[in-house]
Amino acid sequence: AHVQLLQSEKLASIGQLAAGVAHEINNPIGFINSNLGTLSEYASALLKLIETYEMGEAQLRADPEFSARLDDVKKDADIAFAREDILSLLDESMEGTQRVRDIVQSLRDFSRPGEMGWEIVDVHQGINSTLNVVRNEVKHTAEVILEYGDLPSVECVPSQLNQVVMNLLVNAAQAIPDYGTITIRTSSDGDQVAIAVIDTGAGMAAETCAKVFDPFFTTKPVGKGTGLGLSVSYSIIERHNGRIDVQSEPGVGTTFTMRLPIRQTPAVELDGLSSGAC
Ligand code: ADP
Repeated sequence: AHVQLLQSEKLASIGQLAAGVAHEINNPIGFINSNLGTLSEYASALLKLIETYEMGEAQLRADPEFSARLDDVKKDADIAFAREDILSLLDESMEGTQRVRDIVQSLRDFSRPGEMGWEIVDVHQGINSTLNVVRNEVKHTAEVILEYGDLPSVECVPSQLNQVVMNLLVNAAQAIPDYGTITIRTSSDGDQVAIAVIDTGAGMAAETCAKVFDPFFTTKPVGKGTGLGLSVSYSIIERHNGRIDVQSEPGVGTTFTMRLPIRQTPAVELDGLSSGAC
């Protein structure tokens, strides 16, 4: 039963990650596609115009008055406008494809396939790649403030730790009604590191706070929330021999703080990890 639970957590993490990535990629692909549609309409209109122009040019040039008019037509405002539009649509589309490439690159850093084991890593680097993955989802609702302390490298399973940070960031963004801030604050006392994600969102009543780590507890509409993010996060932090807790005040905001040992004691967590890998 223990192994099965870990397996379902793993599937839930993959599902959440896939949903996040799909969302991130969907947006740029959406406007690239629409830009390309508009561009192809412009292109066929321009081709028609050129065709008509070529057909008529010889004939029109014979007449000085028509010839002058033809020169006017060449400077036609519509064509000039279309040209500018074409350029900006192309620029925007290229930015979009760059964004998709960035996301895919971050995802590579983020999931690091084949490197699921324990590593000693720079936690800030992991947070930065995770921020890249969720950047779009977060940027419309919050300014992200990084208050990075002086941290030693930490022994962890990087993809899992990134998963927790992602869950906290997405939740924080979804808890902010209009626009607010999400602060990521890190610190260390020499034995442990602390990573806090602080939002100025809606906050929670004490009864809600008490349930957030329960599997399938969600206050989000069907299709939006699985209620698994925080329970998965909790067990990931538990497997790191750390702790995660929440403080919240309705109308003010919420702080999730995780504390992790800088180094693991070998025997304990290798056990936990091998059952997770089953
Ligand atoms: P989900 O996000 O799919 O609902 P989670 O386990 O991540 O599942 O979160 C469970 C619930 O905890 C959320 O539905 C929400 O009610 C609450 N919650 C989590 N993070 C926050 C936050 N930063 N601010 C307010 N409520 C939160």
